[in-house]
Amino acid sequence: MVNVDVAIIGAGFSGLQAALDVQNAGFSVAVIEAQNYIGGKSLTRDLSSSSGIVELGPTWINNVTQPRVQALVDKYGLETAEQYLGGLSILYTPNGVAHSSKYGDFPTDVPLEELAKLQELSNVTDTESQKFDLENPGNWIGGEPPSIADVSFEDYMLSQGIEPGSFGHTQLTAASRALYGLDPSQIGMHFHLDYLKQGQGWLSLTSDHIEGAQYLKINEGVSKITQRMAEELPEDALFLESPVTQIVQENTGVTLHTKNNLEVKARKLVLTAPSHTYTNIDFIPALPRSKRELATRTTRGRYAKTVLTYRSPWWREAGLLGVFSSVNRGPFTTSWDNTRPEQNVSALALFSCGKEYDTLFSRKTTLERQKAMLDYLAEIVGSAIGKNVTDKAYDVVEYLEQEWYEKPYIEGAPVAAMGPGDYVQLAPVLTKVVGHIHFAGTETASIWKGYLEGAVQAGERAAKEVVGALKGNAAA
Ligand SMILES: Cc1cc2nc3c(=O)[nH]c(=O)nc-3n(C[C@H](O)[C@H](O)[C@H](O)COP(=O)(O)OP(=O)(O)OC[C@H]3O[C@@H](n4cnc5c(N)ncnc54)[C@H](O)[C@@H]3O)c2cc1C
Repeated sequence: MVNVDVAIIGAGFSGLQAALDVQNAGFSVAVIEAQNYIGGKSLTRDLSSSSGIVELGPTWINNVTQPRVQALVDKYGLETAEQYLGGLSILYTPNGVAHSSKYGDFPTDVPLEELAKLQELSNVTDTESQKFDLENPGNWIGGEPPSIADVSFEDYMLSQGIEPGSFGHTQLTAASRALYGLDPSQIGMHFHLDYLKQGQGWLSLTSDHIEGAQYLKINEGVSKITQRMAEELPEDALFLESPVTQIVQENTGVTLHTKNNLEVKARKLVLTAPSHTYTNIDFIPALPRSKRELATRTTRGRYAKTVLTYRSPWWREAGLLGVFSSVNRGPFTTSWDNTRPEQNVSALALFSCGKEYDTLFSRKTTLERQKAMLDYLAEIVGSAIGKNVTDKAYDVVEYLEQEWYEKPYIEGAPVAAMGPGDYVQLAPVLTKVVGHIHFAGTETASIWKGYLEGAVQAGERAAKEVVGALKGNAAA
C-alpha cells in the first residue's frame, strides 16, 4: 500500500504540474496513470527511418500567449522553431472546388458577400465572448448576458446566412471539427464563446503566425517536457499502467484502488482525467448529481492524427503550404506541414476530426486507411495544382497514425465539449471540489481550455487548492 499526502490521477501536463507544485510545497505525492507512458494526450514518436521525431498529439505552442508552457520550454532548455508559412493553402469544398490562398488571405474566387458574412461572424463572436466571466462561468462581465443565445453553432451560422456548401460554412465546419473534434451542430454557442475568450479570440486560435496557437514547434518534441517534469519526482512516486477503478472517500482522505491491485491512501486527491472518463471509476460515495451530469452530458471529440513522412517536402517545392482542408468528402479534415529541417524530417500531419474521423475508421485495416488518406490527398493536390505532382503524395516513407477517440482512459480529444443549452448548468461544475477530490485537466482551465497551457494552469490551480486545504488542516 502507498501512503501519501496527495494522490494525482493522470500523468499528462496537468497531473505532472499539480504533482510538482504539491511536492514543492513540501507534501508527498503519488501520480497514478492508466497508460504505459507519461504525457497523456502528448505523444512524441521517434521515427524508424531516421533519427528525427514527429508529434502524434500536440505540436504547437505560443511563446507570448501561452507563458506557462513557454516557461517549461525555457526551464528545460528546449528550442523552438516557427511554423512554415510559405506557399498556398487549399480549401476543398464538398462539391470538389479547390480554393487556394496565400497564408492569412482569403481566396480571390469567393464572392465578397460571403467573405463579409464570415468576417462579421468572427467579429461579433469575438466581441460577445468578452462578456464571459472565465473565473466564474455562468456569470457575465458587466451583468449583461451575451446577445447570442446558447443555440448550436450550426444554427447560429444558419441564422447569419452562412449556408451549407458555401465557402464560409466549409471553413467554419472544418474549424469546429479541428477545434473540438465535433460538428457545429454538437457545439453550444456559449461553450464556443467561452472557448474563444479563453484562447484569446478567433485569430489567436486559428493563426500559425506570431499571434497564433500554431506558431512554434518544440524541436526536441513535446514529450521531452513531460519526461523532464517526471524526472523531478521521486522514482517511486509514479505508477504507470495503473488505471484507477475505485475511489473511496472517508473523513480523513481517500483510498484509491487500481485495476492492477494497487492501493493508495491520500489526504487529498487531484483528478486530471477528462470528465467523460469519470464513468470508468466507481466513486464511493457516488459523485454528486451535478458532476454525474457533467460526466455523461459532455461530448468527446472524435479525433485521429496521421503523420506522413517523405524524402522531401514536395508540397513546398510545388508552392503549397501543406494546409489542405475539406469537409464531408474524404477521410481527413485538415493538414499541416510538420517538417523539421534541422532533423531532415519532411512531414505532413493529417487530422481526421468529427465526420472525417468516421470516414477514416470505416476502413478497418491500416492499409485501407492509408490508401484512403493518400488517394484523398492526391485528389485535393491534383485538383488544386494539377496531376503532375499527385504521384509524390503516394511516395511515403513512414505512415504513423494515432487514434484518440477509442484510446482507453483518454477517449476523445482535444477536450470534452458542451452542447447547446448546457453551458450555464455544466460549466460552473467543472472545478467544484467534492470532499477531498479536486478536479484538474485542461477541460477545467479558465484560460486555454483544450490546450497544453490550460492543462498546466488547471494543474497549478488544483495544486493550490490542495496545498491550501492541507495547510489549513495542519493548522486546525
Ligand atoms: C492530436 C492532438 C493535437 C493537439 N494539438 C495541440 C497543440 O498543438 N497545442 C496544444 O496546446 N494542445 C494540443 N492538443 C491538446 C493537448 O494535447 C491537451 O490539451 C493536453 O495534453 C491535455 O493534458 P491533460 O493533462 O489535461 O490531459 P491528458 O493528457 O488527457 O492526461 C490525463 C491522463 O489521465 C489518465 N487517466 C484517465 N483516467 C484514468 C484512470 N481512471 N486512472 C489512471 N489514469 C487515468 C489518462 O490516461 C491521461 O494520461 C492536442 C491534442 C491532440 C490529441
